[in-house]
Amino acid sequence: MAETVELPSRLAILPFRNKVLLPGAVIRIRCTSTRSVKLVEQELWQREDKGLIGVLPVRVTEAAAAAAVGTLVSPGSGSDNGERIVKTSADVFGDSQNQGSKSQEEPIRWYNRGVAARALNLSRGVEKPSGKVTYVVVLEGLCRFSVQEISERGTYFVARISRLDMTKPELELAEQDPDVILLSRQFKATAMELISVLEQKQKIAGRTKVLLDTVPVHRLADIFVASFEIGFEEQLSMLDSVDLKVRLSKATELVDRHLQSIRVAEKITQKVEGQLSKSQKEFLLRQQMRAIKEELGDNDDDEDDIAALERKMQSAGMPPNIWKHAQRELRRLKKMQPQQPGYSGSRVYLELLADLPWEKVTEEHEIDLKAAKEQLDCDHYGLAKVKQRIIEYLAVRKLKPDARGPVLCFVGPPGVGKTSLASSIASALNRKFVRISLGGVKDEADIRGHRRTYIGSMPGRLIEGLKRVGVSNPVMLLDEIDKTGSDIRGDPASALLEVLDPEQNGTFNDHYLNVPFDLSKVIFIATANRSQPIPPPLLDRMEVIELPGYMPEEKLRIATKHLIPRVIDQHGLSPSFLQIPEDTVKLIIQRYTREAGVRSLERCLASLARAAAVKMAEQECIIQVGKNAHQPTTSLLDTRLVDSAEVEMEVIPMDSRHDETDAFTSTSTLIVDESILEKVLGPPRFDNGEAAERVSSPGVSVGLVWTSFGGEVQFIEATTMVGKGDLHLTGQLGDVIKESAQIALTWVRARAADLKLSPAAEINFLENRDIHIHFPAGAVPKDGPSAGITLVTSLVSLFSRRKVRADTAMTGEMTLRGLVLPVGGIKDKVLAAHRYGIKRVILPDRNMKDLVEVPSAVLADLEILFAKRMDDVLEFAFEGGCPWRQYAKL
Ligand code: ADP
Repeated sequence: MAETVELPSRLAILPFRNKVLLPGAVIRIRCTSTRSVKLVEQELWQREDKGLIGVLPVRVTEAAAAAAVGTLVSPGSGSDNGERIVKTSADVFGDSQNQGSKSQEEPIRWYNRGVAARALNLSRGVEKPSGKVTYVVVLEGLCRFSVQEISERGTYFVARISRLDMTKPELELAEQDPDVILLSRQFKATAMELISVLEQKQKIAGRTKVLLDTVPVHRLADIFVASFEIGFEEQLSMLDSVDLKVRLSKATELVDRHLQSIRVAEKITQKVEGQLSKSQKEFLLRQQMRAIKEELGDNDDDEDDIAALERKMQSAGMPPNIWKHAQRELRRLKKMQPQQPGYSGSRVYLELLADLPWEKVTEEHEIDLKAAKEQLDCDHYGLAKVKQRIIEYLAVRKLKPDARGPVLCFVGPPGVGKTSLASSIASALNRKFVRISLGGVKDEADIRGHRRTYIGSMPGRLIEGLKRVGVSNPVMLLDEIDKTGSDIRGDPASALLEVLDPEQNGTFNDHYLNVPFDLSKVIFIATANRSQPIPPPLLDRMEVIELPGYMPEEKLRIATKHLIPRVIDQHGLSPSFLQIPEDTVKLIIQRYTREAGVRSLERCLASLARAAAVKMAEQECIIQVGKNAHQPTTSLLDTRLVDSAEVEMEVIPMDSRHDETDAFTSTSTLIVDESILEKVLGPPRFDNGEAAERVSSPGVSVGLVWTSFGGEVQFIEATTMVGKGDLHLTGQLGDVIKESAQIALTWVRARAADLKLSPAAEINFLENRDIHIHFPAGAVPKDGPSAGITLVTSLVSLFSRRKVRADTAMTGEMTLRGLVLPVGGIKDKVLAAHRYGIKRVILPDRNMKDLVEVPSAVLADLEILFAKRMDDVLEFAFEGGCPWRQYAKL
């Protein structure tokens, strides 16, 4: 054992920088400095007995440097703590400890206590070209010594030493000491505790346990302490603990301290682990997943998405203040986990910010008025006045591109070309076109967006439209602006006011967007069916351009010039395959459509085109089958052969393959005549004899009403039966129209005698009778006062059992005293009467001025009769005039 080692009186000295080798410990040193290499070569390598060397700690500090004096200091003259100061080259050190070597002439302090060590292993590295050799020495510490004197031998130092550790007999004696026994027990217990803690943690302490039982306690103390990472000072004090009691208590203290530090570290780890919240765990797992994905090359990662989003935002050209806002939001998003509640909302919001056309515009060429006019003429037939107004509008824009002209509002029944005119304007201006439908919008949020605090919030339709169109200067069509309503959710019209106001729309604030957006570059055009429902302030911002609806001749021109070529093209046909002669178009207009616009007409033409397309496809199929008639395998042919001999005959001539193309062309051109029309569109829906048929019995009169589809002809039927004098009204009527019926009945009852409806004024001709008035087309709600005169006419007809003239329609409000008051929608009503084939129209006298709006061609076809009082109406409504007028004192 080490304690039996006989120490020589002189030892070659290997300095050990800022570290201590303790007895029992094993260390590995790389020697590169010339002094150390010489020492190893001469003392350990070449000597046969491979003697011992002394490992002596040296201290190199700045303080030491400051205090450095003289050269080698002889024993006894060292400082109290046993240090000697020697000024020598740093070259003395074993280089493995010589990290960060200072200047060559560096003052160092030798410690005057060291440990004698034996080399367990020695290996010599390859000699470098510079002549340098490196040795790796494994040393085992054996026994403490004190330095008596240091001298140089050649290039290295040797020291005269004396042994410090006790010899074996001395030790045996000391171990009898009760204090030592107590201390060693204490040390062993602490050491045991440390081992078991380490065992739990690392499961490697098995061998150490064996040490505890076999190695003497004074050596154990050194071995344990040597294995800890402790400071240089503490290592030195351990080296100084020559006395057994001191050494044991010191070692116990150090082991205990180490144990405590392990425990504290463990506690902290447990605590931290406990605090790892669910989301942190998720985060860790996600990180792992990301790593796995990366390994798999699966890169559609959120982070990539966010980077892409950021790039998109950068290129969106947002104004600086909005860019700042967007960046703030992006920073928030980056901190969030994708599963977090606000993540997707925030992301969708940022996507919107990035998608909006902050600075993107379509290049506007200088407006070519001639080209614009040609474009309008090419797209639309007629509408001369409207086109002229549009050209004026464009001319102003040409002269002053940033002019804040009025917002055009096209007002007219459906299908008269409002939308297509707006899109023609867009193409004349070379701008993109976007249509925003406002029909049925009751919520202000539809225009302005919902605040982002709401679940499912989204931007308003305007911002959505701009995102869709992708430029900030489109032509934006606010379609059906008269159909917005207001309720508890706010008033969309007031939001539209802001949109259409050039003073305000530069900073339009959408609640969802929450930052201002510049709408001033947008050209707004509105459409409406009627101008009355548009709130006056909104109407005030717009210039109304009326499109009254088309006459049959105009419809015919529109159909032949525009609709038929378009429909044929849309269905992949050619004019050589489908021909719709003018007469047929006229029939369609008369019998299948009764509208102000041309939408139904277009639909009917499309039906014809579809029928032609089916025919053409079938013929192509037959021709192909004909070519391969010897192998009748196609299902079409199979079924035809089975189903119909007629078709079989069709196939046979083709099989002969003569005149194949002739056969095709001869049957290919589909010329639509009346019979084809009926086959495709069904029996006629309207005919001009309808009025005569319906008015064929007393009690029915013909009124004119206004609906959102323009004017309409409305029949009113009245009948009477046994009852108690009640008035029944049916046909989805509003309050005003019910009141009109009541007024009409009162007026008729009051005039019963004058009208010769009852023999005398006192006699109630309604006694034991109920009256029922019905407005057919019961599914359509009706209201308004304009049916007043029609109601009276039907009641008079009922009670007098005289038929009303079938060619006469009427509209007008009546007072209780029989005065006829003017009503609205005259133009549409007159046009409707004309469409219906009515010849005479009774209007309130005071509506005469409204006739200027009616096209003169229509007026030329009609006899307009003006009535001031109810008796005028009755005069006009009955054949031969009102027969009772002579008696009446109305
Ligand atoms: P609105 O917006 O008034 O309801 P649209 O603009 O949608 O009607 O028009 C319906 C169809 O009728 C469109 O295909 C349009 O091209 C066509 N149309 C309407 N008026 C004319 C016209 N004067 N000339 C040519 N086509 C027309």
